Order: sequence, then C-alpha cells, then structure tokens
Amino acid sequence: MEKSQVALVVCRTYEQEQVDSALEKGIRLLGGIEAIFSKEEKILLKPNLLAKAAPEKAVTTHPAVFKAVGKLLQEAGYENLYYGDSPGNPIGGVARVASGCGIKEVADELKIELGDFNSGQEIVYEEGLTEKHFIISNAILDCDGIVNICKMKTHQLERITGATKNMFGAVYGLNKGAFHAKYTDADSFAKMIADLNNFVRPRLNIMDGIIAMEGNGPQSGTPIAMNMMLLSKDPIALDTVFCGLVGLNPELVPTNKRGQEYGVGTMLEEEIDVLTDEGILTIDDVSKKYGNFNFDVYRGGDSKMQLKMLKPMQPLLEKKPVIIKEKCVKCGICVDSCPLTEKAISLQGYPAYNYKTCIRCYCCQEMCPQKAIEVKTPRLARMFDRNWKI
Ligand code: SF4
Ligand code: SF4
Repeated sequence: MEKSQVALVVCRTYEQEQVDSALEKGIRLLGGIEAIFSKEEKILLKPNLLAKAAPEKAVTTHPAVFKAVGKLLQEAGYENLYYGDSPGNPIGGVARVASGCGIKEVADELKIELGDFNSGQEIVYEEGLTEKHFIISNAILDCDGIVNICKMKTHQLERITGATKNMFGAVYGLNKGAFHAKYTDADSFAKMIADLNNFVRPRLNIMDGIIAMEGNGPQSGTPIAMNMMLLSKDPIALDTVFCGLVGLNPELVPTNKRGQEYGVGTMLEEEIDVLTDEGILTIDDVSKKYGNFNFDVYRGGDSKMQLKMLKPMQPLLEKKPVIIKEKCVKCGICVDSCPLTEKAISLQGYPAYNYKTCIRCYCCQEMCPQKAIEVKTPRLARMFDRNWKI
C-alpha cells in the first residue's frame, strides 16, 4: 500500500521570499504542482478566514502564505484561480473579513478574484455515512480542485483545527451553526466533518505553522512560533503530523479518528512518510527534531458517562465556557453565535450562560473577538485529567 506523504519545511519568518522558497521546496518534495492539478482547471484557494483579525494574531492564514501559493500557481501557468472561505460570522460579507485579515489586498495584487461564498446550494451526498445533506457555498461547487490553506491552531471542541476541520468553511454561511446544534459533541461533529471532507476532497492541503496558535484557540489563543509549513494531499496525515509535533496522541482528536474510519486519510504512523530536506523521516523523528511538547493543547483523556446517577455531579466535572468580564465589551457576538433556537447565552449586561441547556459547542468562545470567553475545566475533573461529558 502506498504511504501518505507529508512534507515538512522549516520557515522562521513571514518574509515573502523565505515563505516563497519554503513553499516551493514543500511542493517539490510532494512531486510538483503539475502532479496535483492540471493547467486548465479552475482552482479555489481556501484559506482560514475564521474572523476579521490582523495576521499577527494567528487566527487566520497569514497573507504571505496565501500569496506564496497564488504566486507559485500563477508562475507555473495556472490562470483560473479564485479564493475565499465562509467565515464563522458571515454577516457583513466575506470580502470584509478577507480584507481585515490582509488576504484581500494580496489577492487583489495577484488579480485573484473572490469566489461566491455569499450564496450556496443544497446538495445530497448519498455516500455520507453520517450526513447526506449539506448546503455548500457556490464557490466550492464551482471549482475543479481546492488548495486548502489552513492554520495550525488549537480548538476547544476538537482539540486542534488543522486541514480537516478547515473544510467546515465549505458550508454556506449560517448553516454551520445548524450543524453545531445537530452534532452536539466532538465525536458526532467529527463524523459530519469526515463526510464533508469526502465530499469536497481538497487535493492539496497546506498548513501555515510558521506562527501557530496555542491555548484558548481557535480565535482567542496565544500565537506561538512553530517555524514550519506542512503540505500533504492527505488532510488526516497532515493533522496527525501536527499532533506528533505538539505531543498530542492523534487518536484523541475526533476528526483524525473519524477521518481515518471514513476513509478521508490515515492517522497511522506506519502509513505516513514525512518528507524533509534530510530525506524521509518518521513522525517520531520530526517530533523530536522540530516539535514543541510544551505547546498548550489539552492532552488528557475523554470520558463519556451515561449514568443518570452522575448527573448531579455535572457542574463539578464538565468543562464549560466562562465569561472574563474584564475583557468583555458586551458586543453580543457570542449570543448571536449560539446555534440553539433557545439560546444558552443571553446578554444581561454581561453575557450569562444557562449551563443546563448549553451543549458545549464553544461557538460563542470561537467567535468572541475580545478573548473574553475561556473554556474552564473544573478542579475535580482536572485531578483525573479527564474531559467529562455527562
Ligand atoms: S462576544 Fe465576547 S466581548 Fe462580546 S459580549 Fe460576548 S463575551 Fe463579551
Ligand atoms: S452557549 Fe456557547 S457553548 Fe453553549 S451552546 Fe451556545 S454557543 Fe455553544
């Protein structure tokens, strides 16, 4: 069986020349861009545009990485390029978010147009094992192939967000919230994400890990230098290498586990070659050489308790989002982000939670622009180093 290949290239800065050169090296290690896309194809560049945030905050794909990808394709003779993503909060339009992240200016300079992420169509995906209905942005449906340009970050629901989770941006606008309401835990959500990846099938995945995000990601975490880009045709293998580099067991990431099970890619170390300047290495080798095991990501286990008798202990065991009043500006974005019909958060001066109905999807935490929501694990649960879901 052919192994999945993940190219790891070192890059310590966002200076354009160095990013260009690192990207070229990575593509060369994968066998060249011509082996992935043909020249007449319409190719979508899909960065992470979670929210309007300056590049140095490490919330979104850095414009220098986006530019390097656009330039490399254009210089190789690919003319039919466009770009975009469906942000977490689509109100105000994709262009506004892309501009706030520095991506639009770069795209304008390269004359790469924004695709249609402001409308979508319902598709029936019969092959879906968990989800057969998606409303997908027209830009995704219009293209022949996708370059998924994701960001190396932590995520409160799935622990990490990398290549696999980045394709959630294919879902049109506010329909993303409906999926959070339907798939209320990390595992069921990951099954839907696996189906979605099988439907959209990005052909090339490029991870911006030059400056990554640790801690309270995917929007409110801390930027941290990881000094690398990862590239692969297999998003699960790519995310698995990311896990190895930060000392996280890849099996604890539901998008990896379900992605492997649903045939999106592989998370088995013996099925993954890491391609580097020094030749082919294992995940273990590159983790020791380039990894950071102090990277702030949750590494404990998960416990799903169905026992009714434990219900009264829920507040002592289950993690929950908490408002940091000193940072909150009472903008209400968290309330708008809650996907439940009967919202589990309301603005009463400061936002207040109804933890009895909250499904712990963390959309509110994900979308708070002020880093004013943290996900806290109660002391008792921390003692057992477990994530409890009761
Ligand atoms: S989104 Fe953040 S800053 Fe705005 S009200 Fe909610 S917690 Fe406060
Ligand atoms: S309050 Fe926050 S974590 Fe709870 S269901 Fe709403 S968005 Fe999800």
